[in-house]
Amino acid sequence: MPLHRHRSRRSGADRLVIQPQAALLAEMRDIPRFRLADTGMPPDTAYQIVHDELLLDGNARLNLATFVTTWMERQAEQLMAESSAKNMIDKDEYPQTAELEGRCVHMLADLWHASPDEDPTGCSTAGSSEGCMLGGLALMRRWRDRREAAGMPGERPNLVMGANVQVCWEKFCRYWDVDARLVPVGPDATHLTADTALAYCDERTIGVVAILGSTYDGAYEPVSDIAAALDTLAAQEGIDIPIHVDAASGGFVAPFLDPDLAWDFRLPRVASINASGHKYGLVYPGIGWVVWRDHAALPEDLVFRVDYLGGQMPTFSLNFSRPGAQVAAQYYHFLRLGFDGYRVVQQSCRDIARWLAEQISSLGPFAMLSEGDGIPAIAFRLHEGVPYTVFDVSEALRTRGWLVPAYRMPPDLEDVAVLRVVVRNGFGWDLAQSLVDDLRRATTRLGAAAAAPDTPEAGHTAFHH
Ligand SMILES: *Cc1c(COP(=O)(O)O)cnc(C)c1O
Repeated sequence: MPLHRHRSRRSGADRLVIQPQAALLAEMRDIPRFRLADTGMPPDTAYQIVHDELLLDGNARLNLATFVTTWMERQAEQLMAESSAKNMIDKDEYPQTAELEGRCVHMLADLWHASPDEDPTGCSTAGSSEGCMLGGLALMRRWRDRREAAGMPGERPNLVMGANVQVCWEKFCRYWDVDARLVPVGPDATHLTADTALAYCDERTIGVVAILGSTYDGAYEPVSDIAAALDTLAAQEGIDIPIHVDAASGGFVAPFLDPDLAWDFRLPRVASINASGHKYGLVYPGIGWVVWRDHAALPEDLVFRVDYLGGQMPTFSLNFSRPGAQVAAQYYHFLRLGFDGYRVVQQSCRDIARWLAEQISSLGPFAMLSEGDGIPAIAFRLHEGVPYTVFDVSEALRTRGWLVPAYRMPPDLEDVAVLRVVVRNGFGWDLAQSLVDDLRRATTRLGAAAAAPDTPEAGHTAFHH
């Protein structure tokens, strides 16, 4: 979360004026903005003030930057409201929430082809970041245990991953003192490959992170090729390195759209997998999942026990208290959609992403980097010689309410700047068509402005009454 520093007092800015329409006349006054007022106010007035403050946030449905769910059915919203007062960690008080969490873990383990004979184990988390931290911690502890059992020092561990990893992996490495071996990406591969990964591995490598759905361009990393290369390394040099798959987005996409792609527990080298329930799992923010293929992959001394129905339940988490609402909403979606429902939702997102890729590439100025073949996201850059930047395009789209991020690719590709559009449940064909229309208008206008910099922009004639 952002660290909020104390703000210096600009004159007047530290008072919040209650607008007359939000208050009874008797309540009209101004109150301090940055410290508690001496007295409170009626609930409707407080509601209106907070509601109005939040008007300046962007429109979540038009936010094409995020992978996180921005639309749910009313019934799912209702379940969340009903269960938001329940604390996930109180397994004893809310055993049925714990039961639903357990069912979700089983469903995901099955979806990711864990073998029930191996006793897969998992839990819900606050999001994929926590899932990645837990996955990384288990890798680190296992490596250390192996090293120490062999009489070798368990120091200076490293983790191998592409430079395109999500920031949570750099956070994991910094917080737990693990050397982050970021494998450079390049024009040929915008993500990790088997060859490049192998070159960075040694006997201090606790694991390789493979991403199913790179956040930069949506591409799936070749998990099975990476696993095969690590199999060879184990056979030839005795260095046995497990894989954690960061399937934040892809964990809820590939099982439905790419069932023949072996990226999951079908590969014996995959020790653990995380996914975001709040991305293509279709739940509002606040839930992720992590599953280990077997007990051996999750060292027992990382597990804590909490009271549960007169007994104890094992837990593994970085947080303690957490709302139970997201688990209820996740289970709702599993019931509501089933396998086929998830497939239809994700296929529709992929169809729209591919259609957008075609339309955008035919506009002229853009070259596609990815076209929705991995997770339903597309990334595109400007052709050489186009007289404006992707940052200009992003800003022009903002005037129509669209939030389409422009950013630079990871190290070694940072001279490439791209725009990215994430297609999610709730972004339908009509919105997609509007986006293409607005993109066409924006590029026409930017092109005209660049061609005639001293005249008013094309389309901006005098104001007509
Ligand atoms: C979104 C994402 C994360 C972080 O997940 P949160 O659920 O936002 O905590 C990690 N890795 C990848 C690949 C992601 O896309």
